[in-house]
Amino acid sequence: MLPEIPTNGVSAVGVSDAATISGTRTVALPPGTVEEILSRAGRPDFARWAEQVTRCGHCSRPVRLRGRVEYRSADGRQVAYSTDAEPDRLLLIRCGNRRAAVCPSCSYEYAGDMWQLLYAGAAGGRKGVPESIRSHPLVFATLTAPSFGPVHTTRADRSGGPARCRPAHGTPRLCRHGRPSWCTAIHAEDDPRLGQPICPDCYDYPTHIAFNWHAPELWRRFTIALRRTLAHQAGLTAAEFARRCRVSFVKVAEFQRRGVVHFHTLIRLDGPGEDYQPPQISVDATGLADAIRQAAVHVRLIVGMPDGTDLALRFGKQLDTQTVNGGSVGELTPEHAARYIAKYATKSAEDFGLGERRITPETLSLLDVPEHVDRLVRTAWQLGEHPAYEGLRRWVHMIGFRGHFASKSRRYSTTLGAIRGERRTYRQRQAAEHVRELLDEDTTLVVSRWEFAGVGYLSTGDTALAFSAAARARERRQAARDAA
Ligand SMILES: [Zn+2]
Ligand SMILES: [Zn+2]
Ligand SMILES: [Zn+2]
Repeated sequence: MLPEIPTNGVSAVGVSDAATISGTRTVALPPGTVEEILSRAGRPDFARWAEQVTRCGHCSRPVRLRGRVEYRSADGRQVAYSTDAEPDRLLLIRCGNRRAAVCPSCSYEYAGDMWQLLYAGAAGGRKGVPESIRSHPLVFATLTAPSFGPVHTTRADRSGGPARCRPAHGTPRLCRHGRPSWCTAIHAEDDPRLGQPICPDCYDYPTHIAFNWHAPELWRRFTIALRRTLAHQAGLTAAEFARRCRVSFVKVAEFQRRGVVHFHTLIRLDGPGEDYQPPQISVDATGLADAIRQAAVHVRLIVGMPDGTDLALRFGKQLDTQTVNGGSVGELTPEHAARYIAKYATKSAEDFGLGERRITPETLSLLDVPEHVDRLVRTAWQLGEHPAYEGLRRWVHMIGFRGHFASKSRRYSTTLGAIRGERRTYRQRQAAEHVRELLDEDTTLVVSRWEFAGVGYLSTGDTALAFSAAARARERRQAARDAA
């Protein structure tokens, strides 16, 4: 018997200070690990320990808890469950981290929850969203950043095959730093040069950082511009438009290889009420896609730079819109749109080797990052000195992006919290039923007491065992999928 406990409250406890082993990379085992593995596997409670590891989904760095569940009966207080009887007197629960680089298992669960939220808003018929939502105009859009200087990239030629990175047009010219301004390589997907500038000295680092820093505000301006554009198309004033139509959206920020954020978003038009009525203006998904492109192309945010100049920030010319739901050729299904966005929700700046913590120029030199990332971080640090960029230094590990990686307007669909709460309530109900079976009818349930005991497995040997069990579980899942 193992009662479930709320993961939210627990993961809020000073988790970040504990030593953790993260990621799934195979490394040479430190000395003593084999002994640790043998000692764990030889213990009489090994099966129970392995069960706990399975129950927390082979989490990479589970939260360790100590505690008990008590109930009152006619004879006073009784203990229904206690970690005293568990291996190491501990209960392991999921870390709940959304980042794939921190915990593949929890990030997988997070992406699944995210998918449910996205899918409910796109297809309806679940999570309190009616199926009639499918008739609302819905568009999947990607808003990118502009160019801050040429970077190494992958391209496709006319037939879709791999093409050269940056062929020289006409007579090849050196840049003013004496470097080639072309690149004739065909880069493989894992080429470390991808996303790196052709010439770092030509690259506009301050504008790049300013874009990441102001991206949340640029997005907000975009949503305002979109409402205006739609109102204008419908021949309505802003106030009249607001009485007839609401713009609902969910968006996810993703870092491109060059270290700049762009947004993947699902944008839907609803009526003004709380009950997912259709919009009271005549616009279809194609009209909405047009309005999104217009608003994204025209929106500007003027920001000050340390040298006293003004900078007009805007989205890039690469702008992708696809209508969802209509069922015509070239349209996305709600399933695909939801899957695409959910996938990006688990990525972050860790892919650049910067980790989750705040960094300074001093700690940066301890990290082994490419020159481009190094320059980005140092530029962000310098900009952060300027009063207009106050607070930026706290976000240099995110290359200046301080926004939420996933966010939504209030009425898009349910919330992530509600989905996680549902799952938790389900587990808790199961656990409560289990406990009740052991108890008399007249008992009154139940007092839980939990204490945070740390993060991660107790030894490298435990971690190695958990990771190999996770790998086996993945193989089994894959085999089951292949068989299906
Ligand atoms: Zn985890
Ligand atoms: Zn190149
Ligand atoms: Zn140059």
